[in-house]
Amino acid sequence: MDFLRNSKIEYLKGVGPARAELFNNELNIFTFYDLLMYFPYRYIDRSRMTPLFNVDIDGGYVQCMGKILNIEEFKTGKRGSGRLVAELNDGKSSIELVWFQGIKWAASKLIRGETYVVFGRPSRFGAGISISHPEFETYEEFIRKPYSDGLQPLYNSGENLRSKGLDSRGIAKLSKALIVQHIEKLPETLPEWIRDEAKVCSLQQAVKNIHFPEHFKAQNQAERRLKFEEIFFFQLNMQMSKLEREKNIKGIHFQKVGCLFHDFYEDKLPFQLTRSQKKVIREIWDDCKSGRQMNRLLQGDVGSGKTVVALMAMLLAGGNGYQACLMAPTEILAQQHYKTISGLLNDMDVNVELLTGSTKTAKRKSIHETLLNGSLQFLVGTHALIEDVVEFQNLGLVIIDEQHRFGVAQRAKLRKKGNQIPHVLVMTATPIPRTLALTTHGDLDISVIDEFPLGEKKIKTIHFTDNQRLKMYQLVRDQIALGRQVYFVFPLINESNKLELKALMEQYDEIAHHFPKPGYSMGIVHGAMSSQEKEYEMEKFQKGISQILVSTTVIEVGVDVSNATVMVIENSEHFGLSQLHQLRGRIGRGVHESFCVLMSKNEIGNTARRRIETILSTLDGFKISEVDLELRGPGDPEGTQQSGQLPFKLLNIAMDGKVIAFSSSLVKKLLEEDPKLAHEKNRILEVTLRQLKQEKSFWASVG
Ligand code: ADP
Ligand code: MG
Repeated sequence: MDFLRNSKIEYLKGVGPARAELFNNELNIFTFYDLLMYFPYRYIDRSRMTPLFNVDIDGGYVQCMGKILNIEEFKTGKRGSGRLVAELNDGKSSIELVWFQGIKWAASKLIRGETYVVFGRPSRFGAGISISHPEFETYEEFIRKPYSDGLQPLYNSGENLRSKGLDSRGIAKLSKALIVQHIEKLPETLPEWIRDEAKVCSLQQAVKNIHFPEHFKAQNQAERRLKFEEIFFFQLNMQMSKLEREKNIKGIHFQKVGCLFHDFYEDKLPFQLTRSQKKVIREIWDDCKSGRQMNRLLQGDVGSGKTVVALMAMLLAGGNGYQACLMAPTEILAQQHYKTISGLLNDMDVNVELLTGSTKTAKRKSIHETLLNGSLQFLVGTHALIEDVVEFQNLGLVIIDEQHRFGVAQRAKLRKKGNQIPHVLVMTATPIPRTLALTTHGDLDISVIDEFPLGEKKIKTIHFTDNQRLKMYQLVRDQIALGRQVYFVFPLINESNKLELKALMEQYDEIAHHFPKPGYSMGIVHGAMSSQEKEYEMEKFQKGISQILVSTTVIEVGVDVSNATVMVIENSEHFGLSQLHQLRGRIGRGVHESFCVLMSKNEIGNTARRRIETILSTLDGFKISEVDLELRGPGDPEGTQQSGQLPFKLLNIAMDGKVIAFSSSLVKKLLEEDPKLAHEKNRILEVTLRQLKQEKSFWASVG
């Protein structure tokens, strides 16, 4: 029997049907339990009084104290709508208390000459300061209150709720009553041994102290327990689903390394693999021969050499008689992969084709046929195409490049392709912060390439504001004089927007003005061009025919021109951190020193400044991704896409790394000992998990 979950909020003393309906509709609170789990968003330290001469308008809520000197009612309008103004004075200064509603009630409560404790949010009123609709009570009442020296919780409310007395204070009253009467009926969710190891308090204590802490230390401990709980069950669920999947899904068993791989390694590979590349290939091989299905995330910064790793994984599949596909997020990237891979394969006895939006119908038809009859082994293409229409004869391996554009849903979709479940390798150049990986990618194994084949990159990053444009042009001119090439990148939010395109063309003309023909040759690439046009321009640049390529972010990922040494990012304040990092990764690929120039307006906002400073200060993709997560927060659309919907109320994955890492290792240890949560001491975990899965539809869909 779970009393709290089974008790309707309506039956809590002081609620009743009308308020219950508001609780249901506005706050999703249906039961006693729901109200217990409706946490304050902030606390006011009611042990502190602000002297009236210190009361200011940008400090948020204040509590202050003084004598009521004057009370005056102003009538305006016929129907008596008006306001009540009282002067509060502490002997040194005065502020005004103002009511526009409930005037009669307030007037009846206020006694001239009496000392009151007042609480509210000050605003400026003419020359003075006023608080409208303050909470107030006599000093006598104040010192008799049970929580007068603790922290007062503030709850989110709303207009409708407030009109029925359910402002923050009204909610606090009900929570308080609920806790006093029923807290000991709240079942514990963590076994004692876990609470001991994690050094967290009981659930009852945590809930009590998240609502009514006596001091911030108590509040902290409560929050820590509740955060731990959130991440712990999330990870537990994820890891158990993973174990379950590994048990139920038989991975395709690659029996041998195969001669394709061997021949390539011996005869075709044009360079020595780095230590990291070897390590990752070994990890992939271990997965593929294990009998389990591979679900591996390969993280490696731009230029770390992921493509050849992908190819060698494909060769493992091919050598075992399986097909493999490599999917890229954009057409340009798919083309580039296709070129690289067919170039590396050279005259080897294996077929590879390219499938994108601009593949001609006849070609497309033959690709579909040969995939189905098995005579085509390798397919490179854009992900939409491969995901949606293509059928394989025996797909053994799927490789997804640039993972940050692929979500959990796509991964799941892929697992369903074909009658066997292929091995999946996801590659990303945008490192996923460790905390995020432990949280949302708990279903993936992770490999890292952490070195560059050609040694550390030599990139100088510079920030110029618009009034320093001439310096930027000079740098570009100097580099071109040395025979180098240059990218100019513009942010374009909507490439089908005519106005934005026009703006882009104007900027193109401005650059062309500084680099006139015939001395200079320029090209342009943007999303509104056909793919033939794009390809033509890219090729011109790749071959060194044009020295300057003006583009929108279509070149963000994967493009590889090692003679390009300057990346000018225009309006860099409009780019996200991972975009800036990706763009910078386009240069520094050859032997020459390279320059990334961030152009921006003279005045930029704080977040944009922080992004630019971060890019200036480091080349380390992991550091950058951590700042990125912190700045964007997990609630951001891009963040959400990357991480799925996270069901956390208190946990902040950018800030709570310690709790996340600790919980992760505890979950691992727990499942090693007791993979099914069958031990008596772990029974409440199993019960809680089942309960959570019922309540949070998201959880059921993970894994
Ligand atoms: P990314 O990880 O960004 O996809 P690429 O796979 O495009 O990196 O590799 C970047 C460049 O480095 C390519 O020109 C590739 O041929 C080259 N490369 C990859 N591995 C090695 C290596 N072990 N030694 C030398 N060059 C390498
Ligand atoms: Mg790449």
